[in-house]
Amino acid sequence: MKAFKGPVVVGGGAAGLAACLTLEAAGQRPTLLEAADVLGGRLATDRLPDGTPVDRGFQVLQSAYPELNRWVDFDALDCIAFVPGARVHLNGRWHTLADPRRAPGLLFATVFSGIGSWSDRIKVLRLVHALRRTRPDDIQQGRFGMDRASAALWSQRSTADFLEAWGFSPAFVGDFLGPFFAGIFLEGALETPAAQFQYTFKMLSEGPVLKPRQGMSALVAHLQDQLKQTDIHVGCRIDAVNGKALQVDGTERPLNDSAIVTVPGLHPEFVVDQWNACLNVVFQTHAAPFGRSLIGLLPGVQSVTNFHFMADVEGGIGENRINVTALYPAGAKEEEVLLRMRSELGAAGIDCGDVVWRARIDQALPRLKSVGPAAMPNDIEGVYFAGDGAFAPSLDGALRAGRLAAEAWLKGHAHH
Ligand SMILES: Cc1cc2nc3c(=O)[nH]c(=O)nc-3n(C[C@H](O)[C@H](O)[C@H](O)COP(=O)(O)OP(=O)(O)OC[C@H]3O[C@@H](n4cnc5c(N)ncnc54)[C@H](O)[C@@H]3O)c2cc1C
Repeated sequence: MKAFKGPVVVGGGAAGLAACLTLEAAGQRPTLLEAADVLGGRLATDRLPDGTPVDRGFQVLQSAYPELNRWVDFDALDCIAFVPGARVHLNGRWHTLADPRRAPGLLFATVFSGIGSWSDRIKVLRLVHALRRTRPDDIQQGRFGMDRASAALWSQRSTADFLEAWGFSPAFVGDFLGPFFAGIFLEGALETPAAQFQYTFKMLSEGPVLKPRQGMSALVAHLQDQLKQTDIHVGCRIDAVNGKALQVDGTERPLNDSAIVTVPGLHPEFVVDQWNACLNVVFQTHAAPFGRSLIGLLPGVQSVTNFHFMADVEGGIGENRINVTALYPAGAKEEEVLLRMRSELGAAGIDCGDVVWRARIDQALPRLKSVGPAAMPNDIEGVYFAGDGAFAPSLDGALRAGRLAAEAWLKGHAHH
């Protein structure tokens, strides 16, 4: 069977797209092989019956992400900006943690009203400033420390360890930082490596949080439109990869130039054992929207990580809808999680009516033991690895992994 021309990229999610963009920029003509019938992977958008876009898994764009800024023209993408902060339900009432008079990027510098002690607030500011002075690459390599002498390997130790080491009070972690980051990491124990927390915290404090008005699939289209020389094959599922060949539909397809693999499980060295999962539901509700594009948090609950009123964020027809994300622990039953979502929101005075739409994402974020370059070698015997599972569990991590794998490929083929 004939070999594919040019470098082959397996998987057309964010990582695969970044790999192809990087290869094209260096004059290559890559081949992109995607199992689904559209590109984008975890960046996917459904439509409610009235046409309102809803992402399959609520997610946002941290506009400070260096990798997004490489490829994305935010004006052309047409985004909605979130108000920095949150509405937090605590001790029977709602607290608004936001100061819209401040620069919208300064989430953590402005999130002060009422929650956390003065000491916590000073520690937030110290963290914002310390992270501002640290290069993103150094953070991802676990080099961010309280001082040089105690520079710990934060790429491997947990976020919970770091928050304690930084001296935040348990109340501040429990009432705000914990619930806020449980929604980002999709796990409540804050076991995600501290370097990932530090990186995300830095990004949130350095630029506004956005969401494409038409959903994440608009971002996919924006990236895909920039590909001019890539031969894209959708509906093409690869079964296995080694340095010399790809397995497709039970047949072997030789590789001319080796492959970049963005999908865990196709090569014995690139596996993700555990994933954080979530259930994302749009309910009908009669509760009043916040009136500002803020997310809501319910500290102390088991399931709901965050929610927002769609009228505040997505607009669309009909005001009475709430978009809720809950953790989905391994072995859970969907109907039980749904019941818990209703009762947790009910206790905060938000009634959930009919389910308008729902998506369960079993493989939402890879649960990595370490992030950054320590997570995975760039290549093993001619196969290059990318994807968030090979670097860090975020869109920036996926894009960066794709770019780095393509750069490693280019370096390895410089003599050709
Ligand atoms: C609910 C949720 C919320 C999130 N929130 C945020 C957020 O707010 N901020 C943030 O930065 N990140 C967020 N993320 C993470 C971000 O979406 C992902 O890190 C990123 O999209 C992963 O891209 P990827 O290319 O690594 O993987 P994927 O998107 O999974 O792409 C892999 C691609 O490979 C294809 N594929 C799979 N198997 C095969 C095969 N055998 N052969 C060929 N192709 C195959 C798949 O169809 C898919 O298109 C969130 C993710 C989820 C699910």
